[in-house]
Amino acid sequence: MASQTPAATPMMAQYLEIKARHRDALLFYRMGDFYEMFFDDAVAASEALDIALTKRGKHAGDDIPMCGVPVHAAETYLLNLIRKGFKVAVCEQLEDPSEAKKRGSKAVVKRDVVRLVTPGTLTEDSLLDARRHNYLAAYAEIREEGALAWVDISTGAFHVMPCPLVGLGPELARLNPSEIVVSEAHEENWAEFVPDFHDRMTPLSRSSFDSTSAQTRLTELFKVSSMEAFGQFTLSEISAMGAIIDYLDITQKGKLPLVRRPVRESLRGAMQIDAATRRNLEISHALSGGREGSLISTMDRTVTAAGGRLLERRLASPSRNVEIITDRLDAIDFAIANAHLAGDLREALRKVPDMERALSRIGLDRGGPRDLAAIRNGLSQAELIHESLQNAPVSTLIQRNMEFLIGHAELIDLLDAALVAEPPLLARDGGFIAPGYDEELDESRTLRDEGRGVIASLQSKYAETTGITSLKVKHNNVLGYFIETTATHAEKMLSLSETFIHRQTTANQVRFTTLELSELETKIHNAGGRALEIEKRLFETLRMAILERAPVINDASGALAEMDLITALADLAQSEGWTRPKVDLGREFLVQGGRHPVVERALRKQGGEKFVANHCDLSDGREGAAIWLLTGPNMAGKSTFLRQNALIALIAQAGSYVPAESAHIGVVSQLFSRVGASDDLARGRSTFMVEMVETAAILNQADDRALVILDEIGRGTATYDGLSIAWATLEHLHDVNKCRALFATHYHEMTSLSDKLDGAENATVSVKEWEGEVIFLHEVIKGKADRSYGVQVARLAGLPDAVVERAKSVLEALEKGQAENAANPQAIIDDLPLFAAIPPEPPKPQAKESDVEKALAEITPDDLSPREALQALYDLKAKL
Ligand code: ADP
Repeated sequence: MASQTPAATPMMAQYLEIKARHRDALLFYRMGDFYEMFFDDAVAASEALDIALTKRGKHAGDDIPMCGVPVHAAETYLLNLIRKGFKVAVCEQLEDPSEAKKRGSKAVVKRDVVRLVTPGTLTEDSLLDARRHNYLAAYAEIREEGALAWVDISTGAFHVMPCPLVGLGPELARLNPSEIVVSEAHEENWAEFVPDFHDRMTPLSRSSFDSTSAQTRLTELFKVSSMEAFGQFTLSEISAMGAIIDYLDITQKGKLPLVRRPVRESLRGAMQIDAATRRNLEISHALSGGREGSLISTMDRTVTAAGGRLLERRLASPSRNVEIITDRLDAIDFAIANAHLAGDLREALRKVPDMERALSRIGLDRGGPRDLAAIRNGLSQAELIHESLQNAPVSTLIQRNMEFLIGHAELIDLLDAALVAEPPLLARDGGFIAPGYDEELDESRTLRDEGRGVIASLQSKYAETTGITSLKVKHNNVLGYFIETTATHAEKMLSLSETFIHRQTTANQVRFTTLELSELETKIHNAGGRALEIEKRLFETLRMAILERAPVINDASGALAEMDLITALADLAQSEGWTRPKVDLGREFLVQGGRHPVVERALRKQGGEKFVANHCDLSDGREGAAIWLLTGPNMAGKSTFLRQNALIALIAQAGSYVPAESAHIGVVSQLFSRVGASDDLARGRSTFMVEMVETAAILNQADDRALVILDEIGRGTATYDGLSIAWATLEHLHDVNKCRALFATHYHEMTSLSDKLDGAENATVSVKEWEGEVIFLHEVIKGKADRSYGVQVARLAGLPDAVVERAKSVLEALEKGQAENAANPQAIIDDLPLFAAIPPEPPKPQAKESDVEKALAEITPDDLSPREALQALYDLKAKL
């Protein structure tokens, strides 16, 4: 665009040139105190941010649309844009406008993009959730071998693992990255495998993924001769890691963030949990969307942000390694056995700031004095914590972590001496270096402050010489220091013009200066400027001193997070009555007195019913398979029971005590959870289709160490279809997958399967019938439900009495008829007495057909997709 527009002003030409290099981002073009956007960017941003769209000059004969945001408030706008899926290129002025003027009156201030802000590359605290990781991921494939790498640039943590394309979905579900870079050649193909993540994919050119240049990029970054220094990586792993580094280079414009040594994760190290299971078990988000009501919010007692993030990681990828799990459980034992010490430890941890994120900002040169202080405070706290634990009989895991807490004395001393106790946020205005640290700085400050003192004394001196008691010495940004009197004294002051030089007359005031005052001002100005310069230089030295020790600071921070999590889980276990699970390589799954932590808490909050604890034993199946087939009325507690057992396995393998009286769990390799009717309107697939796709995934993937939870499979279709599918699914799980499973169904016919399949048993949630009402006991017992109580439950839901009564008689007739005349249900229905319980009709208002009724009459439900149906509902509601 730029080259064909000779009419463009020099500034517009510059804008267009820069914009041409950043086509897929909104360009924040710095002009003084604003970031301005032009053309299509302006239109899109004004709409997304709901800010005014204006015009500025013309381009190729047309008005140029423009909108802008003030620089000081830019972060909020940035966050808004990023959340709405935009990328933003921040273009700054690279010189003072006065510099440009020297080159000629038409010269444009030098500008360029200093940073590309994308969802995966945020570091600002205000843009991030302190207790959540913000991952940038890259997926690469070389010769059919896939690899996934991910980094959290706000903490520097860098990971990579081999990952076939079919395994990508579950891994992305686990990490929940904000952005995934992929080669532009594969974007469309891969998106099909992971449709949920398509809109987070950022295509990059193939060259970013080239394994040879990736190798060079990585070895240069980590200053090693070969990546073998960190382990054996496949070519695709190198390619994925290299692509991440290249993308960081592109977005940060060469200013690479601190990235830690890559840690290689194995695909087999963690319990595999796919996206649907995570959603369904409400691990990090409740189904309603927020964190409230999720497992993590119920379990989180950590007192530091890094500890909170560690809990998130643990629950997102529970381990399969018995040794690791045992180490973590031993550590919790220690904290419980030494409650006093653990309590003190938690108090000390409360004072630990978020060192990881501070360090990352310091690394990117976006840090301020408070980030330096965060490192100082965090490390001093680490040393104190080490001291308190030194003579305690700590567990192996704690012992291992304690080593990282010490050895920071030199840096702490430096920061202690250099920084004031509570430094300001920005380095720009100075005032963060402690007095006594730098002689030259102290001198400049004294000069500056003395000058200010002298100025303050001038007021009384001038008041005396002039005899004007109301005379004031003031300061503003335009005039600097000046002497002010009311207009009534103007004449008198003007007559003293030898001393008082007139500067300005306003409506009510006259302003003067004196030689003495302006000399003092220059002195203050120079001394102040000098002091600022020195502080800036010292800031840089301190920054470098910290960065030199970045790896060990990160280790210390990691160790503190671990201690936080251990003591938090111990605290949780004690106050909630959780117990240590036994986790081993056997095939047991025996939970005694298990509870659903989230439901239990919700019930407690409501202050009504108590949660009923339940046993679950999937241990003694033959040939591996062990399945409980759970029947019982709706609302009895089937789903709760299913989910609580899945959660107990997950919590145990995350290395925590569990909500049960006792639990023995043979390591679970994969966790699957499916619920019947969950609509997926967003993707326009029918309920039934979603359910079948998900069930297929389980049957194709579950190995004999999987734990499968199926809730009301087959509900989305006609009775016999549904029953047949549920039936065949259960047989497949039993005979082919040979896994442990809990299967809840409302098809009572299925209970006969337990006679045929050795590893299957019936269980039911007990209810009591009392005076025609059902009472839910929430107790899971062996055996099958005698009936479904659907009609009674419907009454509880508020169905009109007439309908309930009628339903009862239909049911009775059907049950009776089925016994006598199973072959011909139509005959039974034909025999039913006429609807006898029709209540007297309420008098109908004689109104003509309403808009809603009219619209409703025009709808043919069969012709609507789920999405259209939802829209129709909205339209109807709007007509009310
Ligand atoms: P179902 O799947 O059988 O329809 P749910 O598992 O959804 O039933 O449970 C219905 C309600 O019963 C839950 O919202 C919960 O409040 C309550 N509930 C479930 N299990 C228990 C329990 N073990 N103790 C107490 N209340 C429970």
